[in-house]
Amino acid sequence: MKRRIVLLGPPGSGKGTVAQRLEKEFHLDHLSTGQWFRKEIAAGTELGKQVTADVERGDLVPDEVVLGLMERWLSPQLLERGFMLDGFPRTRAQAEALDKFCAEKKAPLEVVLYMSCPEDLIIERITGRRVCLSCGKNYHVRALPPHSPGRCDLCGSALVQRPDDTVEVVKNRLEFYRKITEPLVDYYRNAGKLVSLNGALGSEAAFKAAAQVLAS
Ligand code: ADP
Ligand code: ZN
Repeated sequence: MKRRIVLLGPPGSGKGTVAQRLEKEFHLDHLSTGQWFRKEIAAGTELGKQVTADVERGDLVPDEVVLGLMERWLSPQLLERGFMLDGFPRTRAQAEALDKFCAEKKAPLEVVLYMSCPEDLIIERITGRRVCLSCGKNYHVRALPPHSPGRCDLCGSALVQRPDDTVEVVKNRLEFYRKITEPLVDYYRNAGKLVSLNGALGSEAAFKAAAQVLAS
């Protein structure tokens, strides 16, 4: 059983949805850095204010800010129980810092699940996405609708469209992804940690494929 996992892939490839299923099934903590930032922004904290503009424009939050949070994210309990990182690392510097941190804690990453996805499907998925502001669960107006319209199945809170889920901002996020994050595919392939999954599959098939990799 693999317990220290990174999910890598473009926005809309299904990382968050698969992680939410795996979390339930395998009791691994799901850490979404985007969700972390969205909560800070909603709560109006100092950190939230610091990252609002970047998140809303779809730019990357600077490495110094992200890496300053790594120790808080990767608590000793999380390292012990096992984790799925979703949205981190996103730059070469973040990946190297994470490797160093995990090596020091004697808790190296075990597998990087790479979910690829064609661009037209990404746009369709993201513009139809709705998210629970309270618990972070993802929905899609057609592919994954909630039981009662506009309400989260899990906690009953209102579902919203993320301000960065508009076509223009998605295009910017994709550009950052292609230029800065996608090279991490080779980084992890060279480290012998990469397993590729087809992110174009539906969420059920993607979940099953991921579960098989974790169980092996
Ligand atoms: P996506 O659906 O694009 O994967 P996320 O929810 O992971 O979106 O992230 C939303 C936003 O939060 C990003 O566009 C970026 O501004 C910021 N962000 C999240 N994680 C990181 C990170 N590791 N490094 C820099 N910025 C990040
Ligand atoms: Zn919810």
